[in-house]
Amino acid sequence: MLEKGEVEFELDERNCTTTVVVEPLLKHMRLTKFPFVVGSEQAVISPPLEKVLELLDSGATIGARLTIDSRLRSDPMDSQLCLLTVHAHPDDEASKGAATVARYHAEGVRTILVCCTGGEEGDILNPAMDRPDVRENIHDVRMQELAASAAIIGFDEVVMLGYRDSGMPDTAANRHPDNFANADLDEAVGQLVRIIRRERPQVMITYPPVQGRYLHPDHLRVHEVSVPAFELAGDPGYRVEVGDPWGPTKLYYTVRTRSRMEGRHAAFLEQGLDSPYDKTRLERPTQDDRITTQISTDGHAAVRLDALRAHATQIDPNSKRYFGLPAEVEHSIHPFDDYVLALGPEPAQRPEIDLFAGIR
Ligand SMILES: [Zn+2]
Repeated sequence: MLEKGEVEFELDERNCTTTVVVEPLLKHMRLTKFPFVVGSEQAVISPPLEKVLELLDSGATIGARLTIDSRLRSDPMDSQLCLLTVHAHPDDEASKGAATVARYHAEGVRTILVCCTGGEEGDILNPAMDRPDVRENIHDVRMQELAASAAIIGFDEVVMLGYRDSGMPDTAANRHPDNFANADLDEAVGQLVRIIRRERPQVMITYPPVQGRYLHPDHLRVHEVSVPAFELAGDPGYRVEVGDPWGPTKLYYTVRTRSRMEGRHAAFLEQGLDSPYDKTRLERPTQDDRITTQISTDGHAAVRLDALRAHATQIDPNSKRYFGLPAEVEHSIHPFDDYVLALGPEPAQRPEIDLFAGIR
């Protein structure tokens, strides 16, 4: 029998049994947002195990039995880092942060794409694909394009959230009841929490609340759903039916820099080409000062363009905007993907150069 104020703590792989202090343990977990569940008999805790072991070594008091969830103990994914990105439509995963995902995948980080809609309302923007057989099967075609793009980028898993594309603002499609933008917010948050709790990412990437002039309702909805999902996934009081609590450590917004746009504009002119950027775009106020994190795209820059080409209905291979500059010029202009750390511990340096800084 355990004394009140003590707990037996077993760790198979260490072949040890020890007594822990629960108060500092729970306090520590709260402070660092590590997810935990405390019932009358049981507390389920999540890695990092090193932190738990440190606390175990310090000794103390408690009134509950603690066990490590068997999946956490035995699953080889325990120690694997995981990056989860949330996007609105098939093709957004290619245009935003593709090189970042490719980089982390190459390093052995598990990479998950959550795609919220099937892109059913996307116009066919490539004349070569504007054919009856494509138009009639647009959902299937876009799913095939997404699969090809995800394979090029290096996503380990693609999870469809299952909503319908809401269409561009002020179009008839906006009224469809299955649209992502019309979905019950709590329901959509719960769906995303279910995925977060299953995949257990340390880092999540989503869209910022202010998205320039591209105010697609689905893109705004991605933000509105992702932030509460990030915050609630680790909350033991939130919907236990969608999985055991797991709170990611950091939430990033994917952003485009003005300096990149200015660099591209100048490069187009230097090459004797018309720039795809008009005066209105070039005069938009900069938000570059908000950027906290820059991930090098060296060695992975081609992935973005190859993945974009895989979305043949959406991306015209003759598009100057995407493919107008020679690849080496394009890469040299701004060899980074840019992010704003929205939630999580303050970066130790600025810009950060690793989304997992402070975690590994
Ligand atoms: Zn989109």
